[in-house]
Amino acid sequence: MSQEWVQSHGFRPAQAMMLWKRLYGNNLWVQYYDELEGLNKDFKRMLSEHADFKTFHLKDMLTAADGTKKILFTLEDGLVIETVVIPCLRGRNTVCVSSQVGCSMNCQFCYTGRQMGLKRNLSAAEIVEQAVFARRMLSQEVGTITNVVFMGMGEPLQNIENVMKAADILVDVQGLQFSPRKVTISTSGLVPQIRRVLKESNCALAVSLNATTDEILTQVRNWVMPINRKYNLSLLLGTLREELRFKHKYKVLFEYVMLSGVNDSIDDAKRLIQLVQGIPCKINLLSFNPHCGSQFKPTKEEKMIEFRNVLAEAGCVVFLRTSRGDDRMAACGQLGMPSEIQAPLLKVPAKFRAALEAVA
Ligand code: SF4
Repeated sequence: MSQEWVQSHGFRPAQAMMLWKRLYGNNLWVQYYDELEGLNKDFKRMLSEHADFKTFHLKDMLTAADGTKKILFTLEDGLVIETVVIPCLRGRNTVCVSSQVGCSMNCQFCYTGRQMGLKRNLSAAEIVEQAVFARRMLSQEVGTITNVVFMGMGEPLQNIENVMKAADILVDVQGLQFSPRKVTISTSGLVPQIRRVLKESNCALAVSLNATTDEILTQVRNWVMPINRKYNLSLLLGTLREELRFKHKYKVLFEYVMLSGVNDSIDDAKRLIQLVQGIPCKINLLSFNPHCGSQFKPTKEEKMIEFRNVLAEAGCVVFLRTSRGDDRMAACGQLGMPSEIQAPLLKVPAKFRAALEAVA
């Protein structure tokens, strides 16, 4: 429902704003038509006749030992999406929203990509509703939801129109009022769309890197993240280097899932330092969350610390992120349900066969 839509039905922009505030602002988060209090009678009647108040059906909510909640919603067409709420003692509570039902990117370490295939894109409303639900239902229990990350099911930039629209709604000062820097759009590395996000949005950007080489001999990123065959590391990082020159006080976040024996050597750390040179950035080192059918194993903590120290000593801003919600399959790369469409396991480059067998 846009201001234009309200005006086209004979009502004033101010009335559109009143409706907007009831949907997204003033901590009201109205869900049903009959909760719309304080609106003009004719306006309400018009809404009841012409507007459809859709809402999700809550299918299930699982709470992990660390308080992380995995929420399953059934959409109007019967498909199911997952949203994760990650509480934090320091008051930085995060909702991780899905942008697609499933995903077609086939990142080899990700349950969603491997087991689900892509069913469809989510609409902007379906994306925003996940954050609204988290605020409406969970703020009392976990505290105010302060951060939104587009790191649930799907590749957000494959659904860029709806994701950008949803991000605009999330940061609107008359509505949900998330700070743009606390709304993070993530991507596996779709270069043209990255350019657009950096040009048109002030939200934070996270790029999954997960490998330090795409050369013919080692091919780690080509294997682990097939998107690299289209947009390789040099194109991806060159684009970021170029575009970030025009952003003020802006750092891209690189996500690096550590896979034992694959991308966690000290040589990888040294290559990573070279790769990100000249790019204002922070690096998150993530522990791999195992799932059934996965051929990877997580890097041991001591090794992650060693890797982190090499980066930190070279002056990188780097964080070690521990897994959240993995006992409920709510952690990064663990969302989704197996479907009839399963993406292929890609051929393991010869160099890593021994390493995978050794850690198995
Ligand atoms: S990591 Fe993200 S982009 Fe890759 S397959 Fe999983 S959901 Fe898709």
